[in-house]
Amino acid sequence: RAASPAKLRSPIICIMGHVDTGKTKLLDKIRRTHVQEGEAGGITQQIGATYFPIEAVQQEAHKVDAGLEYRVPSLLIIDTPGHESFTNLRSRGSSLCDIAILVIDIMHGLEPQTLESIELLRMRKTPFIVALNKIDRLYGWQACPMAPARAALEANRAVAAEFEQRLMETKVALAEVGFNAELYWENRDMRRNLSLVPTSAITGEGVPDLLMLLVQLPQKLLTERLMFVDFPACTALEVKVVEGLGTTVDVILTGGSLREGDTIVLCGMDGPLVSTVRALLTPHPMKELRVKGQYLHHKRLEAAQGIKISAEGLEKTIAGTPVLVARNEDEIDYLKEEVMADWNKARALIDKSGVGVYVQASTLGSLEALLEFLRKDAKIPVSGINIGPVHKRDVMRASVMLEHKPEYAVILAFDVKVEREAREVADELDVQIFTADIIYHLFDRFKAYMEEVRE
Ligand code: GDP
Ligand code: MG
Repeated sequence: RAASPAKLRSPIICIMGHVDTGKTKLLDKIRRTHVQEGEAGGITQQIGATYFPIEAVQQEAHKVDAGLEYRVPSLLIIDTPGHESFTNLRSRGSSLCDIAILVIDIMHGLEPQTLESIELLRMRKTPFIVALNKIDRLYGWQACPMAPARAALEANRAVAAEFEQRLMETKVALAEVGFNAELYWENRDMRRNLSLVPTSAITGEGVPDLLMLLVQLPQKLLTERLMFVDFPACTALEVKVVEGLGTTVDVILTGGSLREGDTIVLCGMDGPLVSTVRALLTPHPMKELRVKGQYLHHKRLEAAQGIKISAEGLEKTIAGTPVLVARNEDEIDYLKEEVMADWNKARALIDKSGVGVYVQASTLGSLEALLEFLRKDAKIPVSGINIGPVHKRDVMRASVMLEHKPEYAVILAFDVKVEREAREVADELDVQIFTADIIYHLFDRFKAYMEEVRE
């Protein structure tokens, strides 16, 4: 007999897609499936993520595939739907998100952020499944709460024609961007074709199928990636000030384990940061009581998990960068280089000539995505970058272009606030600030402006 298969870690799952397609609702629906409040082994809310023990997944997934083997210990679904978490969960140009759910509204088909999500997934080579959501909006749909998609469709013969029509349109649109897509039960080759799952985030049809695929697909395609290794690796998702704790960093522990007292090395705005883990925190299971500051302390936590780290001197940590652990003193210098690598790489993309636009984003992940789009699609040089809100000094830096190439006296600000003073100075100096939270929109605005300038 073959040796029993190796232990795998939990796959990390992101939800992406256009605004209003039902990402949040779908996550809620999946989450509410088997919430056993406070009970051991139940679905638990973590920092930035929801943790699904395999038993909870199994209760739904078995409706679709009774014979499915479970090698992953649980699923970790990242809670911030949209690009944010996906672009942040990456390191050295590859994604730490193991598999994504791309949500498409069946009534609308592919929309701008759908396309943008697809581009990001392709760029990072992340496998994904498509939730064809809002099937309950097909005219005459009869709800089959939490039923497998196929059974629900069979019970809804009356809407078959509309469903087929919309399914076909989506398939064609996906083919136009280079993806063969099939309803997952008709998909003979998961490696080559995208799997589509009809879902309703309101009544829950297709949710069992989605959960089944979130187990099956990683076990088929990602076993190598999911082999458990005890090399601790985290990504900083958010830097937050918490009453009583000071500045904390919310991380996803993507590999290995983390202990209280560990020496951590982080990427800071002005250079590497070294600190000691004072506390490893997860939310209290009784969070719904809204007791303030009720975090659980842990001595040690294992991947994959969402964790709040409390430590000294984290204020300048850049979101979307790695947090690494030094097991001994001599490693620290090497790790400092490691944590700064992505930020340095982004800085290396700044045009040597010093001529170009100024680009600003909320996190390193989104900045990288933006720079890649700028280089590939728009072919526009970049003279400066920054992370965080647009301040007066950013405007001052961008204004340098007024002398060289006035049409580049521009700040492309992605998903960040513009301080009032910055806006005033920009108006005064005639520096253009373009803001958007969809990369395409940012480009569209910038392109329209460039055309105007050239005339
Ligand atoms: P997000 O922007 O992708 O997170 O979308 P939301 O989850 O906030 O949903 C946007 C709107 O669509 C809300 O009004 C939801 O109630 C609605 N919605 C989401 N999923 C479904 C669905 O499966 N069926 C129907 N009928 N409405 C849905
Ligand atoms: Mg939402």
